[in-house]
This record gives sequence, C-alpha cells and structure tokens, in this order.
Amino acid sequence: MSKKLQAIRGMHDILPDKTPLWQMLEKAMFDVCQQYGYREIRMPLVESSDLFCRSIGEVTDIVEKEMYTFDDRNGDSLSLRPEGTASCVRAGLEHGLFYNQIQRLWYQGPMFRHERPQKGRYRQFHQIGIECFGMSGAEIEAEVILMSYRLWKKLGLIDELKLEINSLGTSDERASYKKVLVEYFAQQPELLDEDSTRRLKSNPLRILDSKNPAMQALIEAAPRLIDSIGDESRQHFEQLQAYLQDAGISFSHNPRLVRGLDYYSHTVFEWVTSSLGAQGTVCAGGRYDGLIEQLGGKQTPAVGLAMGVERLILLLEQREWSTQQPLAYIVYQGDDARQQAMRLAETLRDELPGQGIILHCGDGSLKSQFKKADKTGAQFALVIGEQEVEREEVGVKYLRERRDQLQCPQNELASLLKNNS
Ligand code: ATP
Ligand code: MG
Repeated sequence: MSKKLQAIRGMHDILPDKTPLWQMLEKAMFDVCQQYGYREIRMPLVESSDLFCRSIGEVTDIVEKEMYTFDDRNGDSLSLRPEGTASCVRAGLEHGLFYNQIQRLWYQGPMFRHERPQKGRYRQFHQIGIECFGMSGAEIEAEVILMSYRLWKKLGLIDELKLEINSLGTSDERASYKKVLVEYFAQQPELLDEDSTRRLKSNPLRILDSKNPAMQALIEAAPRLIDSIGDESRQHFEQLQAYLQDAGISFSHNPRLVRGLDYYSHTVFEWVTSSLGAQGTVCAGGRYDGLIEQLGGKQTPAVGLAMGVERLILLLEQREWSTQQPLAYIVYQGDDARQQAMRLAETLRDELPGQGIILHCGDGSLKSQFKKADKTGAQFALVIGEQEVEREEVGVKYLRERRDQLQCPQNELASLLKNNS
C-alpha cells in the first residue's frame, strides 16, 4: 500500500476557514505601511548559505542547527531563508538601494527553520518585516515601534502585548562587556547547561537568551550590559525612551534582552504576550548598523523588525470574528436559464464590485440548489426558471430573513440588492 501523502512536519496548510483572518492581518499591515510611506520588497525564498552564515552569525541557533541547507545540482550550498533581513540587505546591496539613499521597506512571506514544532513554533512560518536604511537617530526606532503599536491597536491586540526594550551599545562596548560576562559565568561552570558551556567560548551574550528555567537565577544575577555602555549609547537609548513616552507607549526596560541574531547593536525590542507560553514574542527587532558593512557595503545605519504571523493569528483566534459572506447565489433550471444566469452573474459583478456573487454550476433540483446556496452563507438566492427567462425577471429569495420571495426585473436587480444588503 502506498504511504498516505502528508505535509512535512511543522509545515502547515492554511485552510480557507482561516485565510480571512490572515488576509485581515495582512491588509491591516499593508495599510499601516502605506500610512508611513514604506514600500514593499520581495526576495527569493532560497539564498546562498554563505549569506546567512555571514549575517546571522555562525554561532547562533539558527545557523548552527535550524537551517534547511542543501547542495543544489551544481554543488552550491543553498539555504531556505530562515529570516528576511539578510536577504533584504543582500538585495539592497546588489541593486544599489543604499547608495546615498534612505529606504523604508517592508516584506512578508514564509521563513524556514528546523525547530521542534509546537504551538507558535513551526518549521515553515511567516513573518511580516520592516527594514529601514540610512537613518541613525532614535526617531526611526520610535517610528517602527509606533507602526507596530498602530497595528496592534487596529487589530485590538494592544491590551495583550507588552513592549520590552534594551540597548546592546556599540560593538566595542559589547566586546568589553563580553569579557566581564565570561568572567562571571566562568566562576560557576557547574551551573551552566550544555548549550551555555559551549556558548561561553563562542557567543557568551547568547547565554542571557537561554530559555532553560534552571539557568534563570544565574542569568538574573549576571552583570548588566546597560551598566557598561558609554554616554553616547546611553543618550541614544534615553532619547528613544523619551519618544516612546511622548507617544504614550508604555514599555519596560529588560536589561537581559538580547536577540538570537548577531547583527544587532544599540536598540533591541520585543513585543511579548503572556498567553502563548514560551512562544510569547510576537514581534522583535532593533538596530543593526554593522550588517551592511559586514556584507561588503558601506557603513549604513539600519533598523528593522519582524513579526511572527502565526503567533499573531493565535492571538486573533481567541476572539469572535465575522467573515464576509457572499451576497447572492444564483440558481437556475434549464439550458436557457443557465445561459441567462451566467450573463446575470457577470452583470452583477460589474455593478456590485465589492460583493461576492456565486453562480451554481452543474445540474440538480432547485431544492438541492437552494441547500447549496444556504450553505455558502449568501444573503439571497436568485432564481431563474423558464418563466423568468421569458419575462427577463429574477426571483429573489431572502435566505436570512423571513420574507416572501419577490420577482424583480433583471435590469433593476443590482439596485434592489444594493438597497437590501
Ligand atoms: P524565539 O525566541 O521565539 O525562537 P527568535 O528570537 O528566534 O524567536 P526572530 O528570529 O527574532 O525570533 O524572529 C522574529 C519573530 O518571528 C519571532 O518573534 C516570532 O514571533 C517569529 N518566529 C521565529 N521563529 C519562529 C518559528 N519557528 N515559528 C513561528 N514563529 C517564529
Ligand atoms: Mg528562535
């Protein structure tokens, strides 16, 4: 017996019952991006593996153990993109988008990471991202945070989400902090778990990001990066806080907040919820001034964020949503009627462009057609039988109200439906 075909573990179909919620979220984000003058960019799903190793960092969870990497037929090492920033910077460099230019960009689409699937964590998941280039002030950081804030308000999620911010300082400041941190952790090697012991040499800052509960007390007592950053970095961070306060956005300073990717400097932030367990971060971002140079470009300041769409959908699913139903379902009996029904459907779609008009396809008794009409959630069944063909009329049956069926001339139908919907 052949094996049943199934989707790959951790990769999900988004079925038609759920897509309206996705579309609603995407539309809300699209509107916000337009309001702030952001332009969409679309990048390939596959890139050279080298791009991610050089940008995200060799010693990060993503590159060490989560990437889908394979050799293509030419023997080149390729990877499915695990995130969008690296591709966006590659595209910007390749097409000269950073040369003396300010860029405000956004993108959306699937990302791939080989993680253990659980609620809010998948192997193919979707992000909506924003990336800004050429602006070094805290205003642009405030702007991307304000955009996300506006989106949460539009979606009614603002009460569920909390903003945490931190500053990682400059790369020099981080380098001297790393020494302090290594000294601290090295004093108590028996308290480090396996990952952290490995990271002590390779990437000690990432120990702060550990999700292992047994590590939390040790992490809590560690020296804080914020205490070892210089005046300039501190002022930048204070400026951001002042902008957020002025905009009425509440936030908390989480001195342990570091990100899982190496390219961040100065501001980092996360929007978190307490209702998705360990998968509580729905949006994360920050400044990454070093990345473009690191990938071969000129020093260019940059700020970005990425939202986990599935996690936002999980939050949105917790409430009732009404989805738009079709306006009318056209039923008919006989060949002449079918022809007229097809014509009528097109005319209605011309005249009522915002509405769904479904035309019955195939045969079947009127009774069974009405059943199908009812199932679609349509407000009206429009009936064309022999008599209607002759008189150029349509029977209008109300499917959601107790009202008598009425007859309407075909050329008056659009206005009748408009007035009744
Ligand atoms: P986490 O700490 O939850 O693993 P991360 O730091 O790896 O997240 P980022 O690389 O910053 O996440 O990605 C930004 C956002 O994308 C996350 O905040 C989250 O909402 C979402 N995300 C990341 N990985 C996954 C995944 N495997 N499945 C679903 N969403 C994800
Ligand atoms: Mg992760």
